[in-house]
Amino acid sequence: MKGKKVFAVLLSLTLIFCSLSIAGCAEDGNKIKNVIVMIGDGMGENHLNLAKQEGAELFMESSYDLRGQSKTRSLMEVTDSAAGATALACGVRVINGTIGVYGFDPFGLFATPRSITETAIAHGMKAGVVTTDSTTGATPAGFSTHVISRQLDSAIADEQLSSDLDLIWGAATDSFNEQKAADNGFSVVTTKEEMQALTSDERSYGQFSDSMWKLEVPEDDASPNLTEMTEKAIALLDNDDGFFLMVEGAHIDKHSHGSANGFHYPEKVANMTEALEEFDNAIEAAVRFAREDGETMVIVTADHETGAIMQQDDGKYVYTSGSHSAANVPLFVYGSDTLIPNGEAVDNKSIPQRIADTLSFTDFPAYNKGPMLKILDTFDVLFSALAESKDLIKTLP
Ligand SMILES: [Zn+2]
Repeated sequence: MKGKKVFAVLLSLTLIFCSLSIAGCAEDGNKIKNVIVMIGDGMGENHLNLAKQEGAELFMESSYDLRGQSKTRSLMEVTDSAAGATALACGVRVINGTIGVYGFDPFGLFATPRSITETAIAHGMKAGVVTTDSTTGATPAGFSTHVISRQLDSAIADEQLSSDLDLIWGAATDSFNEQKAADNGFSVVTTKEEMQALTSDERSYGQFSDSMWKLEVPEDDASPNLTEMTEKAIALLDNDDGFFLMVEGAHIDKHSHGSANGFHYPEKVANMTEALEEFDNAIEAAVRFAREDGETMVIVTADHETGAIMQQDDGKYVYTSGSHSAANVPLFVYGSDTLIPNGEAVDNKSIPQRIADTLSFTDFPAYNKGPMLKILDTFDVLFSALAESKDLIKTLP
């Protein structure tokens, strides 16, 4: 009896030691301190192929440590960016159009899932979101707020300005309250010059030219481009306690919507390629930092595919739809060789859980499941099996 007890204690000590030494280790054994999640909105596998067909050379494919895919879906259908961001931020699949709220409680009356951003902040890390979309767009909102509808710009801006994030940067929204920003200690910056002048003790709300989200990649106007924002955000957030940063390249999706053929088709393909290259440049900047730092993991993926790009018989890649599709999206990991099993497709909602495990966070939602969350999870497992066997996930109209 006594011997068995000693054995049991030794076994559990060994297991605890093993799990501690596995969690948070990069490929070279360094602890992961910083996490950068980069989301190419609408970027499917064939967006990479179509861009290369247009002559693009993609950094993201050149030096990753892990390469897999993410299986995207909202609660019961092809996902939009709101539910897509929620899965990647909060680890739950929810109703399209909703942000950071459970499918069984979309008003957030009883509970809202805690995001990986909020969990990182609770652990003393700095945090930021950066996008070429409006700051109140669905993807940045998914990583910073909990609201019933992505349309509620003012509510989103309000929650962002009450949050503990250190920086929220993107195209300007006219739905935020300047007084609230000032009261909550956010410096509002509107130009590249003002952004570059920020210091790491300041919190900031970046409201850059709204041309950023009008399908243009800003070049010589006063607004920063995505790479400049990414580099500056990293410089401001980097600190001894680590940081979490979400970077979104929003124009890939925006250029993939609309007619799949017709007069503007070549322009659409060229614009998507330019947007993908813009996102790829920002990835290169983030990975360069990660390689030098040695304690940073960069995860590159998408919230969903847009345009159902397919390969024709002649080998050419073409758009076949103007909407979101259920296709798996790319998943690249730099700076870790344990986040996913290499070469596998994982559920979109498992990604924040995997990040939490890597950072040894035991307080991410999945660890504290209430009964409703257990029911939601069971539903998700059953629906996944049904969807895969009956092809239930249809392309959005
Ligand atoms: Zn879209």
